[in-house]
Amino acid sequence: MKLKKDDSEGIPNDLPSNLVDRDNTKVDTVINVNGINIGGGDIVVIAGPCAVESRDQLLDTARQVSGYGANFLRGGAFKPRTSPYSFQGLGEEGLQYLSEARELTGLPIVTEVMDTREMEMVCDYTDIIQIGSRNMHNFPLLKEAGKCRKPILFKRGLMATIDEYLMAAEYILKGGNDQVILCERGIRTFETSTRNTLDLSAVPVLKQKTHLPVIVDPSHGTGHRWLVPIMAKAAVVVGADGIMVEVHNHPEEALSDGMQSLYPEGFAQMMKEMEILAHAIGKEIFHLKHQPA
Ligand code: PEP
Ligand code: MN
Repeated sequence: MKLKKDDSEGIPNDLPSNLVDRDNTKVDTVINVNGINIGGGDIVVIAGPCAVESRDQLLDTARQVSGYGANFLRGGAFKPRTSPYSFQGLGEEGLQYLSEARELTGLPIVTEVMDTREMEMVCDYTDIIQIGSRNMHNFPLLKEAGKCRKPILFKRGLMATIDEYLMAAEYILKGGNDQVILCERGIRTFETSTRNTLDLSAVPVLKQKTHLPVIVDPSHGTGHRWLVPIMAKAAVVVGADGIMVEVHNHPEEALSDGMQSLYPEGFAQMMKEMEILAHAIGKEIFHLKHQPA
């Protein structure tokens, strides 16, 4: 087995070389979900509410983001909330609404799993499984994700260095699932003007270190609606393969993350601006090239 030196703090020297390393796989990993390529050069857009709150809320939001050009619908049925008294998600009922929204719009879905015991059920419903920031170091969950047959949208831990993040992704690849999409969603710093500090330099750094696709979540990265389109555009410029944003049909009534959720019209405006920027760097937003609007 090839050995490599790694001087990162906390990571011993002379570990076997990693599956996530660019050295091991020269070509970029492209993840194809229902004909949509994540990582192939075009930019994908994942949009939808933080949480699935009701059938009406989800279907209405799904219809709108689909109409404005999203490639995937997001929505959490199992929510990792800071307070145990906050809305925890609808569970399997939420997954059923997500499938219904997929039927309605044709958009593949992305939803989070938090518990190894629910992995199989979530996997059966969804097209992409999300592992959230708080679970980046949940090794039993990462091992289950390794056995899973669906792509994993794997978010950076809020206190994780880039090398720790890649080592955690390694668990999923080592387990047999090489369909991993990395997601920068902001890290915790001393700064309080934003919810997290969106580490956009992580995008080119990850691109240099790994062959896996990298997307950015400016919603959790900033915590403020007005900052989301600005940082989404910045993500495109620094080379992200896509973005994931929270959109709610009535953000002022949202049961979670309303302050950072775009109105559907704001999402539409952001899509137009992202298109201009994508063209400026020789890229396309996926839907514009492949599905005439
Ligand atoms: C989410 O995307 O709904 C979420 C909870 O994000 P994070 O894990 O990045 O906080
Ligand atoms: Mn959220």
